[in-house]
Amino acid sequence: MSEYWNRRTRNISPYVPGEQPKDRKFIKLNTNENPYPPSTKVIEAIQKAANESLRLYPDPECTALREVIANRYGVKIQQVFAGNGSDEILAFAFGAFFEDSGASCCGKASPVLFPDITYSFYPVYAGLWNIPYQTIPLRKDFTVNAEDYKINSGGVILPNPNAPTSIALSLDDVLSIAGYQEKQKKVFIVDEAYAAFGAESAVLYIEKYQNLLTVHTLSKSASLAGLRAGFAIGSEKLIEGLCRVRDSFNSYTLDRLALAGAQAAIKDAAYYDEINKRVTATRERTAKELTNLGFNVLPSSANFLFIKAPGRRGEEIFAVLREKGILVRHFNKERIANYLRVSIGTDEEMNLFINACKEIL
Ligand code: PMP
Repeated sequence: MSEYWNRRTRNISPYVPGEQPKDRKFIKLNTNENPYPPSTKVIEAIQKAANESLRLYPDPECTALREVIANRYGVKIQQVFAGNGSDEILAFAFGAFFEDSGASCCGKASPVLFPDITYSFYPVYAGLWNIPYQTIPLRKDFTVNAEDYKINSGGVILPNPNAPTSIALSLDDVLSIAGYQEKQKKVFIVDEAYAAFGAESAVLYIEKYQNLLTVHTLSKSASLAGLRAGFAIGSEKLIEGLCRVRDSFNSYTLDRLALAGAQAAIKDAAYYDEINKRVTATRERTAKELTNLGFNVLPSSANFLFIKAPGRRGEEIFAVLREKGILVRHFNKERIANYLRVSIGTDEEMNLFINACKEIL
């Protein structure tokens, strides 16, 4: 606390990212990074862009990158927004589309809806922008009940697949929420950070549902968490809304190197399809082995597993794994305190993880 902080800074509860260890070498299964390297074409593109032109500002509209994305997804360039990682796009989207609590005549905006167990950045963005929200409990089996999101609200945001549960929602359910919320004139954001690993994307429906914004990242499926690049696809008016917020904040959110690298990544779908197939195959094998060991393993459509050890506390397993040099993620939160989120690493890394689990049990 400081006397120099304003009310906003005093009241916010910032997000705490997973550990990026500096002092010791860990098997890092805690932040859902891709275990395989980015495409060599990405590295070449970045190296090529590292030249004298860094003297100049980058293209604030990210035109070339948005063109490549538009081609890949069969949409118009005006339906694409590019940002500095999808976290930035999500922050802009909360600011652009969800009313803050001072916005309506009687000072009571309807709350934005998201699950009780979901990406923990959502309540943080709501706090930053002073947006009221209501969390909707997942079912006992940690699935989303789409019907729960068909109520009067300030808008809806869901990750598909959900994080940290790893469970995907069917496209029919996603579209049914989009349809309901469109009638209410409310925005529905689908955070597709992990969709490439098994969920059905809603991208093809952004024309049909003008209130639907899909948000994507290159951090996971394109092995570029270190580059900071993401994009959103939605109706032209939604994209214009995002641009209005961005241009009230920072015109140049993607630098020249990130623009070059991201473009090359979107173009090299063949490479990424291959490594991501490997990730999902490793996921399936790991899930099977952990189930055989007695773990409860939720059905994953993501590049991570959400697991519970038989009769052991989550915190305890997390600590023992850390001692053994394996980092996973533990959320000290109601309903999931005994679960661990484990990113899918290489086959060798997952073998070491499984062996460590065997020793612990
Ligand atoms: N959405 C979800 C559900 C995530 O788990 C993450 C990664 N922490 C992000 C968005 C943000 O990813 P990035 O900012 O790296 O694009």
